[in-house]
Formats: sequence, structure tokens, C-alpha cells
Amino acid sequence: MIKLNNIHKSYQTGNNSLHVLKGINLEVNAGEMVAVMGSSGSGKSTLLNIIGLLDVHDQGDYYLDGNLIKGMNETKAALLRNKFLGFVFQSFNLISFKNAVENVALPLYYQGVSRRKRNKIAMEYLDRVGLLPWADHLPNELSGGQKQRLAIARSLIGNPKVILADEPTGALDSVTSSEVMDLFQEINQSGITLIIVTHENDIAHKTQRIIKLHDGLIDTDHKNGRTKIETNAVFAI
Ligand code: ADP
Ligand code: MG
Repeated sequence: MIKLNNIHKSYQTGNNSLHVLKGINLEVNAGEMVAVMGSSGSGKSTLLNIIGLLDVHDQGDYYLDGNLIKGMNETKAALLRNKFLGFVFQSFNLISFKNAVENVALPLYYQGVSRRKRNKIAMEYLDRVGLLPWADHLPNELSGGQKQRLAIARSLIGNPKVILADEPTGALDSVTSSEVMDLFQEINQSGITLIIVTHENDIAHKTQRIIKLHDGLIDTDHKNGRTKIETNAVFAI
């Protein structure tokens, strides 16, 4: 589903260049549920943003569902995002003046679906995340966990193959975090590939595979508690 070969990314600030990703090799198969860990500044969000076509890499090859992602303009990137990807962020990114059902329906608005139809579909997704009674409430009337469930419903409405979540439990207490992870597990069981950035061990252990970034490279890649591949070992020689 996702294949990264020797991905590099640098950021330029003034005269300085910061080499953030230094040759990432990674393959994520359809149906996997993966955690990406690593200390602050290790490049987790950068990696997720590249996978999510929200940022572009400088070097290397990225294939999303067999499509080579290279030199793509924003229109094409937006099309692929709509077709394949859903996003969940730590800060929820809900629209404060729109109610729950309108927030969930938003991706369909951008796809030109009529108001009546998109709200009907949005109600089904609200139901799926247990928020049907909250349909006409504004985000600030919801708890943190409810807001994240709402954001998850919004990420699902475009029928994505992959959901990318950047520290989705970062603003939640541990009980609520665990509930959000249960929902992600349910979503994964329905066949959707999930990549979740987290710095919390107990969150990472709710996935099937843990990838640790260190200094712009994949340090370890564990599956079911065993080392699967030392991805960059080959390149270190
Ligand atoms: P993480 O998510 O692991 O904390 P990031 O991927 O956000 O790390 O950032 C990696 C490094 O790149 C950090 O040092 C950060 O300051 C820097 N960085 C991230 N985004 C930008 C940007 N748009 N411009 C300049 N530097 C950036
Ligand atoms: Mg980050």
C-alpha cells in the first residue's frame, strides 16, 4: 500500500538546511496497523506528512497504492488524498462554528455531494463512532474524546484506504486514549490501513507493528514484539 525507498527530506530556513529524513526505507502493507515512535524532532510528523501528500520529499521514491508520487501538483495530490487517505490530528482540526454532522460531512462538500446526501451519510458515520445524539452540537460542547471520535468519523467518510493519525491521543487522558485506540482497532479490522504517530508506549502496543525513528532514520521495526527488519542496517555498511 505504501512503499518508501531511500526517502530524504530537508527544510531550509534562511541559509541553514536541516536534514530531517536521511534515507527512509519502509513498506506498509494493506490492512496493517502501525505505530511510528521516536523522540520529539525525530521526523515523525515530517514522515507522516510526506506519506499523506501534505509535504513533498526531496529524494527517493514514494509509491502510494502503486502510484509513483513525484513532481505532483497540488490538484493531483488533492485528488489522491481524497481517494486514498484520511487524517486525524492531535488538535482535532474541527471547524468551531460547524456542528458535529457538518464537520463530518465536510470532505463530501469538497467532493460536490449535495447537502442532504452528505448529511445523511455523515449521520451514519456519527452513529458508527457513537455520536449520533451529538449531531447538532458544536465542537466546544464536546469532550476531548468525543471531538477525536468526530475527527475520526470525518476521516472515514471519504472511504479511505489509509488513515494517518499524528499523535491522536496526545491531548487525551489515558482512559479516553484507550477508547480512541479501541475505535482505531475496530477501523483497522474493517480493512483500513492505519499509521499512528505516538510517543506513548501503551498506545504503540495497541498496534501490530512499532517503527522507531532516530535521527532521521528507522532505528527499529518490530512486529508482535520481535525485530522484523533493521531497515537501515544495510545502508549503514
Ligand atoms: P516530530 O514530529 O518527530 O517531533 P517533525 O517531523 O515535526 O518531528 O520535525 C523534525 C524536525 O524538522 C524538527 O527539528 C523541526 O523543527 C523541523 N521542521 C519540521 N517542519 C519544518 C518546517 N516546515 N520548516 C522548518 N523546519 C521544520
Ligand atoms: Mg510531530
